[in-house]
Amino acid sequence: MSTSLLYHAFGIRGYECTRTRYEGGSVIFSIRREPETWRCSSCGSARVIRRGQVTRRFRSLPIGARATFVDLPIPRLECHHCGAVRQVEVPFADPRRSYTRSFQRYALELGRRMTIRDVAVHLGVGWDLIKDMQKRDLSRRFARPKLKHLRHIAIDEISIGRGHRYLTLVLDLQTGRVVFVGDGKAGDALKPFWKRLRPSRAKIEAVAMDMSAAYRGAVTRHLPKAKIVFDRFHVAQLFNEKLSDLRRDLHREAADVLQKSVLKGTRWLLLKGAENLDKEKGEKKRLEEALALNKPLATAYYMKEELRQFWEQPGKRFATVFLDGWIRRAVASGIRVLQQMAKTLALHRSGLLAYYDVRITSGPMEGTNNKIKTMKRQAYGFRDWGFFKLKILAIHETRYELVG
Ligand SMILES: [Zn+2]
Repeated sequence: MSTSLLYHAFGIRGYECTRTRYEGGSVIFSIRREPETWRCSSCGSARVIRRGQVTRRFRSLPIGARATFVDLPIPRLECHHCGAVRQVEVPFADPRRSYTRSFQRYALELGRRMTIRDVAVHLGVGWDLIKDMQKRDLSRRFARPKLKHLRHIAIDEISIGRGHRYLTLVLDLQTGRVVFVGDGKAGDALKPFWKRLRPSRAKIEAVAMDMSAAYRGAVTRHLPKAKIVFDRFHVAQLFNEKLSDLRRDLHREAADVLQKSVLKGTRWLLLKGAENLDKEKGEKKRLEEALALNKPLATAYYMKEELRQFWEQPGKRFATVFLDGWIRRAVASGIRVLQQMAKTLALHRSGLLAYYDVRITSGPMEGTNNKIKTMKRQAYGFRDWGFFKLKILAIHETRYELVG
């Protein structure tokens, strides 16, 4: 094979091919470099003499379905200039890798369209080799995202493996990117984040999060100037849980069969926004029937729908009046779940009103969570957590398919 073909087809430059042979269905090229080109890999001097040699084999780009390898004798050189005794560098492969860089680029490219397993089978290599290759590539590009520009962030936890394990995510709300993935769901999970944040000198102005105490202490301590905004999605989520509890209790306590049957199957209707009820499927009618039979459920439902208007007020003053009014009526309703909700909102009043200072929500977190859910079904999530976390960091930026 010509030197030019070796370069243009296989990405190996400055070598000559001395021999081509076929072994067990593979093509093996023996290549070498002229001794005049040898340089000390420590200082670059040409005043070197050979002290031994090993031949290494590198996997190279396949020709169709046929695997190819290059065999290269690598001399060990003693340098008269600096005294080092080192192996000559191999410019077409990364240190300690048994494949060429062009093979690596090709495998990574295939990984954007195929599963790791498919790539491995196609190239005739092990699953681990492709996975490790992807992991190093992801690590190089995404392991340490820049934090300097962070202004508004959201912090949230996600559960993995049916709640057996949690990860804490930090999202840049301006770009939608995941900038940190930590282990666990408590404030401790953020420790490595703070450690990287300090030297970045980022000026974080606001943090969106849920009303649980998990992250609040840590955020107050590490970002004393940042505004904490309790997120509307989390408020809605909490309210929906309460509403489900109430419906379940009513269903259990319902004395007559009619009432039971009307309540049955209304859970999702209660949680839907009123504007999302499907008229054609009779959802609105079914919900109204259920509500007509259950005064407490009806009150709770309409209070839930009404609370959504808290985030649609023209300004902070209106929002304050609205929230206080809502809390007062919820307490007066005599319905336990509404009273619980009122208590929670009263406790988090300033963080709820902070929305009118910085209008952020962790809404973008939702999209990220959905993508992670797709990834969770892939086995690698549980085989290699480091890889899984890198995939999350890369979720918005890479062209990698979300395949295992
Ligand atoms: Zn040297």
